[in-house]
Amino acid sequence: MLITLKQAAQKIQAANKILVTAHILPDGDAVGSTLAMLQILRAMGKTAEIFIDDTIRDNLHALPHFDEIRRPVKGEKFDADLLLILDTEPGRIGNVRNLTDAPILNIDHHVTNSGEGYDLYLEHEAAATCEIVFDFARELGAEITLDVAKCIYTGIATDTGFFQYSNTRAKTLRTVSELVTCGVRPNEISEQMEKKSLAEVRDMRNALESARIFFGGKVAGIFVKTAESTEGFVDLVRVIEGVEIAFMINEKEENFCRVSMRSNGIDVATIANSLGGGGHVRAAGCTLKTSLEDATKITVEAIGKALHVENLSDAGILLADVN
Ligand code: 5GP
Ligand code: MN
Repeated sequence: MLITLKQAAQKIQAANKILVTAHILPDGDAVGSTLAMLQILRAMGKTAEIFIDDTIRDNLHALPHFDEIRRPVKGEKFDADLLLILDTEPGRIGNVRNLTDAPILNIDHHVTNSGEGYDLYLEHEAAATCEIVFDFARELGAEITLDVAKCIYTGIATDTGFFQYSNTRAKTLRTVSELVTCGVRPNEISEQMEKKSLAEVRDMRNALESARIFFGGKVAGIFVKTAESTEGFVDLVRVIEGVEIAFMINEKEENFCRVSMRSNGIDVATIANSLGGGGHVRAAGCTLKTSLEDATKITVEAIGKALHVENLSDAGILLADVN
């Protein structure tokens, strides 16, 4: 059920022991929003802990209180009176769902979040869940300390591609302006976030070599097989002139492919949703439990349908072979 920010704030105020979580495959917004919320809740005198059921990429480890994030152990229980889910729907939190039967409060900005069966404060125009967390801090009367500001800034910066994507709105910039006033140094966070390991840069080179063009150049895809972070890989082909939808398929394990899609305005959330995933209009994803070859077929066909392409069976041309 959709609720207002005020109602959501009241639910937080009424709770004492709060389990905070975010989505698997956590990104800067998932980690930033949970860490900011943890500090806000504790400053209000609440008991709060973070559980996230996944590994978290190295760039985010320097965030304040990062070391307190725990991963649930199978069969573990956590005594809570509120399960606060940030930046995703309850179906994408892995085993955290089994830690407690406490009522759910969900705060999110994903347009595909239905809110069916749980309390949801959804603001899909918000650039990041962190942008909403800033408003909650205000509503709850919590101080934005430098540590809270760093976490919120990181989530907003990473979800907007450092203020380049269309989700960047005037309010986003007003919010980050306040965070910078609190002492956040944008250059320091950018440097921290863009660092990549040698292995990641090599994966990026291989990804670029794998790039294929479909449907006469309207669609571009890259293909990787890695357990390393693939942050930013899909952008390598998103920028090609004429490309309306870019996608990346990462075969993380045999028959387990993660698909990321990006567009310049065409609704990829609906495409991802039709394949069991979700996301935003211009950035969405899904998991396909098939081989890389089948995942490619399924993804290209679904994208082709959305673009009303007549001949959907396009195997693509290697970018290297395009004149
Ligand atoms: P990315 O391509 O960076 O993994 O994800 C793009 C956006 O889509 C993010 O906001 C992410 O949370 C969302 N997303 C990615 N994969 C899934 C999925 O499998 N299910 C849902 N509901 N959202 C997803
Ligand atoms: Mn987000």
